[in-house]
Amino acid sequence: MSPKARTAIRMTTPDPGTAGATALAPWDYAPAPESLKVAIAPEHQLFIGGDWVKPASKAWFDTANPADETVLSRVAEAGERDVDRAVGAARKALKSWRKTAPLERGKLLFRVARRIQERSRELAVLETMDGGKPIKESRDVDLPLVAAHFFHHAGWADKLRYATGGDESRPVGVCAQVIPWNFPLLMAAWKIAPALACGNTVVLKPAETTSLTALRLAEIFQECDCPPGVVNIITGAGETGRMLVEHTGVDKVAFTGSTSVGKRIAAACAGTGKRLTMELGGKGPHIVFADAPIDQAIEGVVRGIWFNQGHVCCAGSRLFLEESIADEFIARLRERMQQIRVGDPLDKNTDLGAINSAAQLATIRRYCEAGVREGAECFVSGGPLPKKGFWHAPTLFTGVQPSHTVARDEIFGPVLSVLTFRTPAEAASRANDTPYGLSAGVWTSKASKAYEMARQLNAGVVWLNCFNEFDPASPFGGVKESGFGREGGKQGLLAYLRVGGKGER
Ligand code: NAD
Ligand code: MN
Repeated sequence: MSPKARTAIRMTTPDPGTAGATALAPWDYAPAPESLKVAIAPEHQLFIGGDWVKPASKAWFDTANPADETVLSRVAEAGERDVDRAVGAARKALKSWRKTAPLERGKLLFRVARRIQERSRELAVLETMDGGKPIKESRDVDLPLVAAHFFHHAGWADKLRYATGGDESRPVGVCAQVIPWNFPLLMAAWKIAPALACGNTVVLKPAETTSLTALRLAEIFQECDCPPGVVNIITGAGETGRMLVEHTGVDKVAFTGSTSVGKRIAAACAGTGKRLTMELGGKGPHIVFADAPIDQAIEGVVRGIWFNQGHVCCAGSRLFLEESIADEFIARLRERMQQIRVGDPLDKNTDLGAINSAAQLATIRRYCEAGVREGAECFVSGGPLPKKGFWHAPTLFTGVQPSHTVARDEIFGPVLSVLTFRTPAEAASRANDTPYGLSAGVWTSKASKAYEMARQLNAGVVWLNCFNEFDPASPFGGVKESGFGREGGKQGLLAYLRVGGKGER
């Protein structure tokens, strides 16, 4: 897409000029709380074989609202027998599901997509309560993308030949899917929709701090008459995930999460014949040239790092500014940071919600302390933070050296590190100086420069004059330590298909 076309789309974002003109500080606005009350059962069982079942492990854990630390519900913690039962249910269901007419598989996914739309407000509120993200984002970004992902893959179910270049294909089999807490429902959609479109069955494990929306998605599969066992949702923490991915009845493992856990899973699966896709961490470079449309670039940088509290694997967490505009850009970015409203995630005006967990907040704080200790300059925006819950104000590090910890490690929080460059070649080499390779962004009004940078950047996704834009038709995934395999588009389907050849596990 040309930079000009992107500019037209970005007109919908608030004009920083007028936003800055208001007399009120951003935290002085009257609250606009979301009014929908979502009923949450005090207990959530496992969804196995189309039924809700008590955990054989007899173990449970609490899930809380990170904005006020109240417990929302207790959730079953699946043990070895539960994992075995779920994989067994998926294996049994595979026999008929793989032979179900592709058009019928598509129809189920269309029904699910529509039901998600019908229940989207409820799902958005629940997502915000369990995970801490602003309702504005769960309602206007996550939920529309969740539905879009099911619609997109529903359409593929009877057209898989067009994804394989005309070759015959078969499903891979039983898929173990383990997802993180930053986009709970969206990651469930990214995993389940393509798997089912291709005729696989799944056992999905959401992250332990954000299980509730995946369990409500299970309800939707029930409402839509999904055959029992095609989708199984089991809850638990890392140990449950480990037992699931290591189960011998599993044919494919799809994982999204940290690079360290991803490496452990890859090691455990080596030599088993299991198919593997890994979507891991990132430290995305966001490059702004002096010839960029600066107003839009500032909005893009804000979206790149302060969207979803910075809990985004593809976040633009390293900002590279062309030296000639660095001072002015930083000054304007600081002003814009003051307009970011931090607070109650259920308030429709909130821009930055709660940090997902106490543990993640501690990690972010440790990184900020390292930034200061190593000599970078720290700027923190904003007003008072709520007393209860887990909060971190938008934070900007300037004077960052490429060797600094805040320039190297994935912080996974609302913390941006600024570096500078003089030439496009230097921008590219500094941007690529990272073990990660998930995303990158480039802002320039010169198309030839944009495409040359896209060619040189070693990342799975490169955004030109925009950032954090997603589309189910567009393949997403990393290189280097950001993982392998793609999700979305026809490349994403290939991960869930055996193309050509004979033989089955
Ligand atoms: P994590 O990798 O520990 O957890 C992700 C998922 O894997 C969760 O469902 C968890 O229960 C499960 N899990 C944990 N250990 C497992 C194991 N041995 N086998 C199978 N499954 C296992 O991530 P985290 O601890 O929640 O977050 C830590 C860091 O990971 C973050 O600071 C961030 O850097 C990174 N992260 C990246 C993403 C991403 O989208 N790429 C998402 C979340 C976290
Ligand atoms: Mn929670």
